[in-house]
Amino acid sequence: MGQVQDITYPSFPNCFNLLLQTDMQVTDVVVIGSGIGGLSCAAVLARYGFDVIVCESHSIAGGAAHAFERNGFKFDSGPSLYSGLSYSPSANPLRQVLDAIGSELPCVTYDTWGCCVPEGDFDTSVGAKQFCEVLMKFRGHDAVAEWQELQRVMEPFASAATSIPPAALRFDFGAARTVGPFIPSLTKHLANIIKLTGPFSRIMDGVVKDPFTRNWLNLLCFLLSGLPADGTSAAEVGFMFADWYRPDAILEYPIGGSGALVDTLVQGLERHGGKLILGAHVEEVLVEGNRAVGVRLRDRQEIRARRAVISNASVWDTLKLLPENAIPKQYRAKRQATPECDSFMHLHLGIDAQGLQSNLTDQNLSVIFSIFLSKLHILTKFNKQNPQLLTQKKL
Ligand SMILES: Cc1cc2nc3c(=O)[nH]c(=O)nc-3n(C[C@H](O)[C@H](O)[C@H](O)COP(=O)(O)OP(=O)(O)OC[C@H]3O[C@@H](n4cnc5c(N)ncnc54)[C@H](O)[C@@H]3O)c2cc1C
Repeated sequence: MGQVQDITYPSFPNCFNLLLQTDMQVTDVVVIGSGIGGLSCAAVLARYGFDVIVCESHSIAGGAAHAFERNGFKFDSGPSLYSGLSYSPSANPLRQVLDAIGSELPCVTYDTWGCCVPEGDFDTSVGAKQFCEVLMKFRGHDAVAEWQELQRVMEPFASAATSIPPAALRFDFGAARTVGPFIPSLTKHLANIIKLTGPFSRIMDGVVKDPFTRNWLNLLCFLLSGLPADGTSAAEVGFMFADWYRPDAILEYPIGGSGALVDTLVQGLERHGGKLILGAHVEEVLVEGNRAVGVRLRDRQEIRARRAVISNASVWDTLKLLPENAIPKQYRAKRQATPECDSFMHLHLGIDAQGLQSNLTDQNLSVIFSIFLSKLHILTKFNKQNPQLLTQKKL
């Protein structure tokens, strides 16, 4: 049960009557949205002693990562490619959140996936060396040399990208306390950290000319961020290189899929006293004297926030919730103009597991990922801006 105090709110002298009339709840922080970001934020706040209420519009928690069931089959709505979750300490910020809230997420691990591309089908493993064999088969010596050069160039960027835990990054005076301990390592990597602020294409263009390798890197960027190399931050790719191309690298899949991950975050939130309300669509952020002081739900119920209202909704959805004059017009126009990335469509296939071995092997997984990648090829057909990302291939 959340520790929601519902009879005191200092800025309201007659609040007791008001609360009786409107059934108003009061908490420290209201989080709008229960995506992985909203749940992580809320669970960590609850862990550090704040009263938190998460309001989720949908009837299922998890946002883009929610799980759903049809005819006995369970599906992930979004993510399927995970790494850095099954061990600790890990550079994956989600694993750092799970560590902070004291939660475990059992995962199966694998290192090989099957790919179907126009040039042919192949299995590829995480880890730097095996992809050289793939390149040798499809492209020859020059492509291998370029790939090795990229590994060399990326090495310092990978170290820079993991030199500070993302959770320590903040942009207020508190940064002195959280970033402080990492200053020696930051100073060492400063020049590379500056380069990591641009798109990955800036690094890739200087090293990789082979079209197959460029398509491969664009695909990896697309899997990471939904955009090709010129829209993906070099820091994100630096993190991936550090994680995927280190010795003994593995990929993971939470047992129970994204739904299990979301359940783990919700349980962590509730164990620390936070509360999640499903079917609670926030219609308006309440603003008084330049401060967000709560939210009004679609059913007119209000939830007051003593400390903050945090939105996990998209930038465009969040702007709709703010009263007209709550933020400067110029700021609103700039955020509103944030470009959307190209659409991404998932085709969900249920495979009857009867007759399959109970232990999924790399081979079984590679079949599933082959389907996943073939599906991507079809999907990139819709990618009007970047038709070169991958050529279409029929299932
Ligand atoms: C098809 C697909 C495949 C992906 N594959 C991968 C992958 O393999 N690996 C990977 O790491 N990432 C992947 N991602 C990305 C990953 O899923 C997302 O980055 C992540 O889930 C986004 O989480 P979030 O918390 O930022 O936002 P969201 O998940 O968008 O959460 C926002 C939440 O806010 C709620 N909300 C919005 N407005 C309101 C309101 N007014 N009132 C109340 N609630 C509201 C929404 O219902 C939603 O639950 C994929 C994404 C998609 C779509």
